[in-house]
Amino acid sequence: MGDSRQQITVLGSTGSIGVSTLDVLARHPDQFQVFALGAQSSWQKLAEQCQTFKPKYAVLVDETAARHLQQRLSGEGSETEVLTGERAFQEVASASEVDAVMAAIVGAAGLLPSFAAVEAGKRVLLANKEVLVMAGGLFMAAARRSGAEVLPIDSEHNAIFQCLPLAAGLSAGLDLNALGVRRIMLTASGGPFRQASVQDLAQVTPEQACAHPNWSMGPKISVDSATMMNKGLEFIEACWLFNAQPADIQVVIHPQSVIHSLVEYIDGSVLAQLGNPDMRTPIAHALGAPKRLASGVDSLDLVATARLDFESPDLARFPCLGLAQSAVATGLSAPAVLNAANEEAVAAFLAGRLSFSAIAEIISATLERVSFTEPDSLEAVQNADLTARRVAQALISASTT
Ligand code: NAD
Ligand code: MG
Repeated sequence: MGDSRQQITVLGSTGSIGVSTLDVLARHPDQFQVFALGAQSSWQKLAEQCQTFKPKYAVLVDETAARHLQQRLSGEGSETEVLTGERAFQEVASASEVDAVMAAIVGAAGLLPSFAAVEAGKRVLLANKEVLVMAGGLFMAAARRSGAEVLPIDSEHNAIFQCLPLAAGLSAGLDLNALGVRRIMLTASGGPFRQASVQDLAQVTPEQACAHPNWSMGPKISVDSATMMNKGLEFIEACWLFNAQPADIQVVIHPQSVIHSLVEYIDGSVLAQLGNPDMRTPIAHALGAPKRLASGVDSLDLVATARLDFESPDLARFPCLGLAQSAVATGLSAPAVLNAANEEAVAAFLAGRLSFSAIAEIISATLERVSFTEPDSLEAVQNADLTARRVAQALISASTT
């Protein structure tokens, strides 16, 4: 008898989202089978995941790490085949056996594998928001062509999706007007420095920036949350996912991270999705949709939560949010340039080469120096990304010497 379980590829399986995804999958062995796992270099963690989930393939970018993994798995009599190289990520994302792909590689590195999944018409569970920021138009068009269902994993976008009257994933080109939507309210925790002064922000260390009050996440998105670039990237992500104009979306600070976002309708109804801040909820939602799956997340204790606060974002202290909002209004490759400059600046900050407040300065200066192009092919997007990285790297070197 054939296996009726859904075959899942998890790209970025050793990261924060990847680990949460495997936690949910492990709760439903009757429904899901892991087809492939992929990561950059952490072969020991990947070896343990292979032992537990017995995927057909395990993929690593780093060739030395892949050799270590192969040796270890062979020694254990594992049947998992180890692959390496960028193409292998695209192959396991688009293989005909695969039903759904968790796209949880961080940053622009996820561009080609995420595209491979969407072009192959898979159910794409999209955590890798940078792909939409870089190439949202191309990505959504590819989903429409292939019939791929795109399901948002970002908690805010998953919340918005849950507040819209849609059964399946996003691919058909939403018409918010026809749905009677007046606006989308995107909530933001404000990060660890919500109340910090401009002077305090200049002194922030990588360790402080990575200590988020409500969420435990990978280092890059943690820094993005601290600068509020994460909300900027999410603003752009929401424009593409929901076919929304910037004017349709309002960012609201909500420090408790219990309301994950809201949708307001023309009759004045406002629907919100609430829950404990735990990524297993959106992951389980996207894996199961339109059915519900147990995720292991605790019940929300409203009495213990006691209050829900809201405030407007302060663009003077968090310029990254404003930079992202103007990039999406500018259009063309401006969001791809913003994303590339941000990735370079965040990497330099994490490496101790750039101050926290200089992150926004590098991005702003890169946006001023680069001329924007039409992102009408993946190649054009990759060129815009590369050019912006070179400019940002030069600006970072100049600022540190
Ligand atoms: P992470 O740093 O914890 O994990 C990143 C994963 O990607 C790791 O498995 C790593 O090995 C892999 N990876 C890195 N570079 C790679 C490359 N070049 N090729 C292949 N694999 C590579 O990051 P994370 O926090 O899990 O975030 C992943 C994505 O999900 C990001 O785009 C982030 O913005 C998004 N996201 C994360 C959260 C969260 O709570 N962590 C919430 C919403 C959205
Ligand atoms: Mg989010």
